[in-house]
Amino acid sequence: MSMKAAVFKEKNGKLEVVQMPIPEPQAGWVRIKVEACGVCHSDYFVKYGALGNTFPRVPGHEVIGKVDKIGEGISSEEFGIGKMVGVGWFGGNHCGKCGDCKEDEWVHCKESYVCGIHYNGGYAEYMVAPADSLVPIPDCMDPVESAPLLCAGVTVFNSFRNQNIKAPALVGVQGIGGLGHLAIQFCKKMGYEVIAMSSGNSKEQLTKQLGAHHYVDTSKDGYIDKVKSIGSVKCILVTAPFASVVPGLLESLGTNGKLVILAAFKEPFNADSITMIGGSKSIIGWASGDSRDSSDTFHFARNNQVKPMVKAFTLEQANDALDGINDARFRNVIKM
Ligand SMILES: [Zn+2]
Ligand SMILES: [Zn+2]
Repeated sequence: MSMKAAVFKEKNGKLEVVQMPIPEPQAGWVRIKVEACGVCHSDYFVKYGALGNTFPRVPGHEVIGKVDKIGEGISSEEFGIGKMVGVGWFGGNHCGKCGDCKEDEWVHCKESYVCGIHYNGGYAEYMVAPADSLVPIPDCMDPVESAPLLCAGVTVFNSFRNQNIKAPALVGVQGIGGLGHLAIQFCKKMGYEVIAMSSGNSKEQLTKQLGAHHYVDTSKDGYIDKVKSIGSVKCILVTAPFASVVPGLLESLGTNGKLVILAAFKEPFNADSITMIGGSKSIIGWASGDSRDSSDTFHFARNNQVKPMVKAFTLEQANDALDGINDARFRNVIKM
């Protein structure tokens, strides 16, 4: 039995849609009949082999589908045939024994896999994944509309909820793309006052529709004073990958403010230590979340109508979906 998959056959190559054998789930794994897979900037890491993946490799780590076959040792009550599940960046296989696992930090376990990097991901009709990577998806949620919650969604929701900032504090979302358009919705619905921050004013209207209370154009001189005039910003989620924005955002923060870096910059950034010390400010990174965090993300999104804005593509259009990611408003999704 064979299936269609979009695969990087070699480093730096284009995606090619090929026939491959349908994978069999080993013990502790399940097979998923994929219904939708979101397209993420990190899928380029797979193309370039940047995180050490081998080729050929099927990318895709925002996968939603139905359990189709279960490996040995999987409880059919939890992940029975036909159950709707998701797999995100955290691809399971945490060891349960190391220091990070003992601190419940599955994402940081050295044994943990990344879906679409260490094993084939969701740009395919079928895939297999370890049980600890699986996220139960509420039946009422549309696979295409909700797939981006498995990477973009959990990254903004989980990073922000762990900053321990008291609502209704003033918070900022820098960058209005795949992550940012979700961050605005989550922060607003978690009870915060939200400043959307982006270069230019083309996205201002849209950020208001998404729930932002304020908009600041970070390409304008004096934007830092504008942010400060709104109030004391306790946290800014940095979702667009431009290292040059860091000094200004750091200055924009209020006392005890946190700059949470969620975008991977191509180059190092500068940060002024006096600004950090003087305002007791911090800059931190955050590694998305695991399958349990994704499950919380889905519950919150369902209960509060947080919705990714998506454009659907077929598997044959996988290259268009990936190459068009920078123009996307806001997340491209492959629909099987
Ligand atoms: Zn991703
Ligand atoms: Zn471990």
